[in-house]
Amino acid sequence: MEDNYDYLLKVLLIGDSSVGKTSVLLRYTDKCFASQFQTTIGVDFRLSTFQIQGKLVKLQLWDTAGQERYRRIVSSYYRGSHGLIIVYDISNRESFKNVTHWLEESSSRTDPVPKLLIGNKNDLKEQRKVSTDEGRELAEQLGMDFLETSAKNNENIEEAFIRLTNKMLEKK
Ligand code: GDP
Ligand code: MG
Repeated sequence: MEDNYDYLLKVLLIGDSSVGKTSVLLRYTDKCFASQFQTTIGVDFRLSTFQIQGKLVKLQLWDTAGQERYRRIVSSYYRGSHGLIIVYDISNRESFKNVTHWLEESSSRTDPVPKLLIGNKNDLKEQRKVSTDEGRELAEQLGMDFLETSAKNNENIEEAFIRLTNKMLEKK
């Protein structure tokens, strides 16, 4: 049956434009990667249902449709969320600096929820501008979990959603 799940959890992906939010999401839900995503792909949300900790969990995964270009997301987007993923690009220092901005904006508009920091494009080793340690330290400071991912190489993508889901279930 369609609605036969134990938990419906709303998760948001935020972060600077072109860090790979849409790519991470589509890699996870559609098992694919495209090198030419439009920032305004227009995805509102995707669903993913799976069994975890003996519970059937349905994730409602929200993607921005280009609003992040203006470094502001409308507050209705944040409403009722259970978890948050902030994404930066390891080859883009600016996107890492802006993590604090995204955390502040989201914290002012949501209840305290579990958060995961993702350093994406981990396949771009040569162009790396943010070290793994810096990412880990910032996440620790901000009280977030941390993972480096590659949507391109399918590295740590499923792990990211599972880790956040486990954290969200701890709060249930
Ligand atoms: P968004 O604006 O945050 O949603 O970013 P997109 O998902 O649209 O990705 C922006 C660009 O980065 C696209 O050209 C993607 O193909 C590319 N991209 C996304 N993830 C990765 C990754 O893990 N590795 C590499 N090399 N490129 C990526
Ligand atoms: Mg996008």
